[in-house]
Amino acid sequence: MATLFLLLINSIATLPPTLLAAPHPAASPSSSSSSTSAAVIIDELIRELACTTAAGGRFRTDADALALASTDFGTNVSAPGARPAAVFYPSTEADIAALLRASNARASPFPVSARGCGHSTRGQATAPGGVVVDMASLARGGGGSSPAARLAVSVDGRYVDAGGEQLWVDVLHAALAHGLTPRSWTDYLHLTVGGTLSNAGISGQAFRHGPQISNVLELDVITGTGEMVTCSKDKGADLFDAVLGGLGQFGIITRARIPLVPAPARARWVRLLYTDAAALTGDQERLIDERGGGALAGLMDYVEGSVLTDFQGLIGSWRSQPPSSFFSEADAARVAELAKEAGGVLYCLEGAVYYGGASDTSAADVDKSVEVLLRELRHARGFAFVQDVSYVGFLDRVRAGELKLRDAGLWDVPHPWLNLFLPRSRILDFAAGVFHGVLLRRQGGGGGGGGGPVLVYPMNRGRWDAETSAVFPREEEVFYTVGILRSAVAGGEEVRRMEEQNAEVGRFCAGAGIPCTQYLPHYATQAEWAATHFGPGRWDAFAQRKRKYDPSAILSRGQRIFSHPLAPACA
Ligand SMILES: Cc1cc2nc3c(=O)[nH]c(=O)nc-3n(C[C@H](O)[C@H](O)[C@H](O)COP(=O)(O)OP(=O)(O)OC[C@H]3O[C@@H](n4cnc5c(N)ncnc54)[C@H](O)[C@@H]3O)c2cc1C
Repeated sequence: MATLFLLLINSIATLPPTLLAAPHPAASPSSSSSSTSAAVIIDELIRELACTTAAGGRFRTDADALALASTDFGTNVSAPGARPAAVFYPSTEADIAALLRASNARASPFPVSARGCGHSTRGQATAPGGVVVDMASLARGGGGSSPAARLAVSVDGRYVDAGGEQLWVDVLHAALAHGLTPRSWTDYLHLTVGGTLSNAGISGQAFRHGPQISNVLELDVITGTGEMVTCSKDKGADLFDAVLGGLGQFGIITRARIPLVPAPARARWVRLLYTDAAALTGDQERLIDERGGGALAGLMDYVEGSVLTDFQGLIGSWRSQPPSSFFSEADAARVAELAKEAGGVLYCLEGAVYYGGASDTSAADVDKSVEVLLRELRHARGFAFVQDVSYVGFLDRVRAGELKLRDAGLWDVPHPWLNLFLPRSRILDFAAGVFHGVLLRRQGGGGGGGGGPVLVYPMNRGRWDAETSAVFPREEEVFYTVGILRSAVAGGEEVRRMEEQNAEVGRFCAGAGIPCTQYLPHYATQAEWAATHFGPGRWDAFAQRKRKYDPSAILSRGQRIFSHPLAPACA
């Protein structure tokens, strides 16, 4: 411990003295005028935490640690305004609680943000001028709980207790070892439990099971005041609901209890091409309407869809890489011809039916389901493609695309993503203006070879818990998610162009009166969060919870929602 302490003191000497006093874009004048130097504060912190926690966390203040903690999947650069003063590596949950209490004890509390993998795209996991908590450090243990205890399956209870820092792919494998599986997923599994539960966690299973935040039994949370609380719908329901979809504002999730069901062994994976949006969305809606969808109702376990505009190979399709290609070269030529006839835009319905293993669906059942699907769905005839893969291979399919992009040096590039929710009744207006307008013009604009998948799929509002902090359209029974997931492989100018196109999508929606809600939201000012994202009623409730669980506005300031002190309007 003494050696560690000396190391820390040495690294503190290299701290730029102004970091903690650096103004945050959303910060109030009083927080930006703090004159305390970062070095002194970190020095004090280290001494305090060494006394107050059994195992003790570890700080790093070297350039590498700070650069990593201020970089994310979106920016791929270390933004100067996003730099923390230090990165904290907790050994136990108590270390995090002590850190938060230490911040609270100061006249000018410093920001603290949990960082999962930093898969955010707009600096949401940063703590400008403060301390980033490297959540992965919890899994490495130290003096606290063993790594195995941070991923524990109860076969009798049909749940898994997963540390907030755990990756969903590891949750999957731990559950499968007992023939069990969670029900609701994201398309990419190398995300943390705490990170996706702070947003919503959506994928093609959400229509049936709701987002991941609708599939949690219990949480361990450390609130902004440093209190360690176990909460659920039965006990501490307000905190439980606040944290789910809460953008990291109310507490740090250190454990989530996720319900499990018997796991299938395989997935029949289907891709069907469409030449118009109305046919695609009509079919998607029949598939997710488990009561009124007729012959198609409930036939698929996973329903998504995408818009194909550029046919540009790896970048365009990384999100959904099967072990072997869905299309032969001859198919690719036919698809290109179909796209030409359709004016340059095709749609793809992507679905899966699970079977085998501990599920109660057999291979013969699936054969029948697929027969009905191919007969009833209104895709372009001759453009149905089917593969049979393992359940794990299906759920973890994005990993293969990631590895290919990494090999090609195309993964660590800026990602100016735009994710939206919009009501069912406006999806065709959106398709006409954006898929057949803005996105096609993007290609016409040329340059750089970037691009990326464009997702479009519906969900049933009734599967979303209205008490959580997540913001989603509430007007209609069904709403759509659209994900424009771009990779700016050419860097600077391409990022600017893509951001301009994101803005163009926004202007189009505003002009056409299409109400859009951002998923994985990003706004620059509190006024925008209040008026545009939450709307008055929901904003008041969100701000009220903030005052209750993080009154010093310490947590996740990288989201740019609150600054210290909380604005009077939040009182
Ligand atoms: C390739 C890729 C594919 C994706 N696919 C999907 C998808 O299919 N569906 C979907 O819903 N999302 C998807 N996402 C988005 C993903 O859900 C978000 O990036 C999310 O933030 C999880 O990333 P993370 O675990 O790295 O969290 P981070 O980016 O590290 O953190 C995100 C936010 O949560 C806070 N936070 C992190 N951990 C905790 C914790 N334990 N307790 C409280 N707050 C915490 C952070 O402070 C920050 O504000 C994808 C992202 C990528 C990069």
